[in-house]
Amino acid sequence: MTSAHSKLYSDDVSLVVVIVDTNPFFWAGAALPFADFFGHLIHFVNSLLLLNHLNQVVVIAAGVSSCAYVFDSGNAAASGSPDVAATFAKASRKVEEFVKQDARDTAGNGTVAGGGAASLFSGALSLALCYIQRVFRSGTRHPQPRILCLQGSPDGPEQYVAVMNSIFSAQRSMVPIDSCIVGTQDSAFLQQASYITGGVYLKPQELSGLFQYLAAVFASDLHSRAFLRLPKTLGVDFRASCFCHKKTIDMGYVCSVCLSIFCKYHKKCSTCGSEFSRVMPDLNSMPDQK
Ligand SMILES: [Zn+2]
Ligand SMILES: [Zn+2]
Repeated sequence: MTSAHSKLYSDDVSLVVVIVDTNPFFWAGAALPFADFFGHLIHFVNSLLLLNHLNQVVVIAAGVSSCAYVFDSGNAAASGSPDVAATFAKASRKVEEFVKQDARDTAGNGTVAGGGAASLFSGALSLALCYIQRVFRSGTRHPQPRILCLQGSPDGPEQYVAVMNSIFSAQRSMVPIDSCIVGTQDSAFLQQASYITGGVYLKPQELSGLFQYLAAVFASDLHSRAFLRLPKTLGVDFRASCFCHKKTIDMGYVCSVCLSIFCKYHKKCSTCGSEFSRVMPDLNSMPDQK
């Protein structure tokens, strides 16, 4: 079997899959309006395509209840439309349609989503990895892939297992996950994602200059990164979510067989069914270990 990396172009050709948070609960109260954010994004996508004519960019929208591909530079080129403005006007309409459909799905779900609603990043990461795997398996040559997450809404602890699985799958395929936080709080999921996969994590201070951050930090291909001084993550929040209540915990119990995490001691693992006979001490009664 030929390894995926023997099929790389000799030049630095990139495939960038951008995951965009379209969560209306977040954007309704965001400092940077969505329209402005989208403007920055379009300039960034255009710059990536201008850097090398073989570069490919795919944009995936992550909503509250669904996620979808909204732009693929491969399709845009194949349709023979030389008009850049028309191509991006089409992408912008697709995003609008997606946001409306996602709002209908959220209303239909019956789940009352509030201001702290998370976006479906686990699904978007899976879509991105599926796309990259398809590229790996097709053609004689393929570009070097990477994923860029533009997240504003908070992490969804209920997506912990799915997100971690995506992160490990990206690590195995050697696909770096870059993260750019456009919200107010850091994302523990994306800190771990970028740390584990060797990507860049950045939370810009001044969102009005978002394009500048994107162009200076996230536009560089993987080869050039070795020669650049890109921002380093100062600290990574390694906390996990328990599998029983999907809550973020500082300390917990781990199944010795399948590594499932629980906030309370269980006699039997709910994931793999292993039984634990030994009585464990109560975590809450143990001082000095937090
Ligand atoms: Zn729990
Ligand atoms: Zn288990």
